[in-house]
Amino acid sequence: MTSDKIQLTEEDITGIKADAIVNAANNSLLGGGGVDGAIHRAAGPELLAQCRGLGGCPTGEARITKGYNLPAAWVIHTVGPVWRGGTQGEPELLARCYRSCFSLVREYGLKTIAFPAISTGVYGYPKEEASRIAVREARRALAENKELTAILFVCFNSATRLAYQKALADD
Ligand code: ADP
Repeated sequence: MTSDKIQLTEEDITGIKADAIVNAANNSLLGGGGVDGAIHRAAGPELLAQCRGLGGCPTGEARITKGYNLPAAWVIHTVGPVWRGGTQGEPELLARCYRSCFSLVREYGLKTIAFPAISTGVYGYPKEEASRIAVREARRALAENKELTAILFVCFNSATRLAYQKALADD
């Protein structure tokens, strides 16, 4: 089943005006490279100050903060698994990231959310497999939460977009 509530875009997530954008963070929640660094730079130092108070985040869980200088009202920080060949529980941990984000979406009554391709950068998760999990969990969330009106997958390059297009077409 395809849903027009799931959309793909190829742009910088920091410019997106959704109720929440998701940050592919690390366990410290104190910033890093990739999308994490970009979100902290765009949100400003108050984001780091709030993150300091959270005391980190285990892999597969998520924490919510305000968006500060971002166009998005909220940032949901989740920590994806590092890819270690796929036999260390990576698929379940990645699925748990998406579910943790969607449970905050429900708790906060959010309607729109934008995700980067969690774990597919420095953490090395293969894009095709990661996008299949992302699409599956997005469909599940849309079926369970009628308040949710749009899920945007932000593809930072054309290879990522192709992986999502395939995942959307396949299942
Ligand atoms: P991880 O450590 O979870 O792999 P990365 O930040 O290294 O996190 O990469 C996650 C994904 O985010 C990758 O697909 C990367 O290309 C993408 N990405 C990096 N910067 C941005 C950005 N500004 N907006 C959207 N996606 C981004």
